[in-house]
Amino acid sequence: MTALSRGRAAVATARRPARWPAAVLAVLLVAALATPAARAGVPAGVPIARLHTTGKVIALSFDDGPQVTPVLDTLLAVLASRHVHATFFVIGDELVRVPDVGRRLLAAGHELGNHTWTHPHLDSIDVDSMRFELARTDSLLHALGAKGRILLRPPYGAFDEPVLRELKRERRTVALFDVDPSYDFPGIANADSVEAKTVEWLGPGSILVMHPWYEHGGETMRMLPVVLDWLERLGYRIVTVSELLKTKHATPEVSLYHKAE
Ligand SMILES: [Zn+2]
Repeated sequence: MTALSRGRAAVATARRPARWPAAVLAVLLVAALATPAARAGVPAGVPIARLHTTGKVIALSFDDGPQVTPVLDTLLAVLASRHVHATFFVIGDELVRVPDVGRRLLAAGHELGNHTWTHPHLDSIDVDSMRFELARTDSLLHALGAKGRILLRPPYGAFDEPVLRELKRERRTVALFDVDPSYDFPGIANADSVEAKTVEWLGPGSILVMHPWYEHGGETMRMLPVVLDWLERLGYRIVTVSELLKTKHATPEVSLYHKAE
């Protein structure tokens, strides 16, 4: 699968997220809460879509890649000019081709997260393959200078019970997101409404994801400064996902994606 088609697939999948019955998720959450947390307040092996908090804080994340495209310089400049740090959930097999990009992201103060080595649906591969996907990517990130435990974001937000059981065993912190504006790009008539909708969807404790590396990367870069300006005016602090998950007096919400109209 090429990087481009992978991006499209991710976008398409975002429209049809796997939805687990609330009761199943509740059982999983209760089970996870009974075990020591990999991060303060955040249970291991449970997909976190956002935090319930009263604090005006939002995490910014970028999925897939990284790639050396014209977007890279623009993206880093936009974030630097606003003193914003984000989490980049990278694909190991792409990062290994451009390791300097990983070092550059870390040097700029951004966080690198694990988005697997080849971007598979974790619920469609065997457990040994999954361990390999995760461990190989962790190793690369650590070799490039990433410190401590590394967050995981499963590709396509895809998981099932065996996947979560293994992630819990590995004491992985699993960070999804609740707002993904990118899947609205292909058919949008008035791009300004994407920004308005994005800001409307976001709230305290939200995790925003964007996909800057593919064919609509220019659109992402056009809307990012607008959204950041908007959030700044509303008094929000923009942080990495790890920083968000350290928020005190917050409870994680276990669900997938913001439901787009
Ligand atoms: Zn992805």
